[in-house]
Amino acid sequence: MSYVFSPAPVVSVPVVGRGERFPVHRIYCVGRNYEEHAKEMGFTGREPPFFFMKPADAIVVVNAGETGQLPYPSLTANLHHEIELVVAIGKGGKNIQAADALAHIYGYAVGLDMTRRDLQNDMKKQGRPWCIGKGFDASAPIGPITPAAQAGDVVNAPIWLQVNGADRQRSTVAQLIWNIAETIEHLSAAWELQPGDLIYTGTPEGVGAVVRGDTLEGGVEGLTPLRLTVV
Ligand code: MN
Repeated sequence: MSYVFSPAPVVSVPVVGRGERFPVHRIYCVGRNYEEHAKEMGFTGREPPFFFMKPADAIVVVNAGETGQLPYPSLTANLHHEIELVVAIGKGGKNIQAADALAHIYGYAVGLDMTRRDLQNDMKKQGRPWCIGKGFDASAPIGPITPAAQAGDVVNAPIWLQVNGADRQRSTVAQLIWNIAETIEHLSAAWELQPGDLIYTGTPEGVGAVVRGDTLEGGVEGLTPLRLTVV
């Protein structure tokens, strides 16, 4: 096989305790999946789950113990943080039932669904796609993936984000409206999941803006924390 130019490298994420990396296929995101966040966005938190996507190469990998760099994106004056539990799919499938969903999970990571909130709000008002608000370059920072067997009680884990050392978001994964298994059931009814898919499962309340020079540090108990500076 030859190509007219060199193909882009495979996007991948390190795996805790292993030399091999997790190759990324797609990035799915769940909208408004914590009730208090849905309310702060002006909704009730009682809707069916809905999804949007980011390109796989929107990933910014931050290794354990490192402080990553998050480039402030163009066209926005309101860049928001959304700390999220990320589910890494190891076994694909369509129409996966919630009762079978955990067998499809390779592991978990801490991620940020960075959002150009001003552009997203403009698109919402006009009934247009969210891509420019959600799917921009470097919009999906992520830490190393912990294999499911070593991740502890992710379903009930505390989740938090601090900016410059001060709490912005603090909740628990137990507050998800649509839990991990239900999310996989709904998502796999709409798309055939593939090994390498990542699911950003939604953010709790407390989203807000960051500016250049801010340091974000977020975590989900039992997983490698994520730390970045906005540049
Ligand atoms: Mn989100």
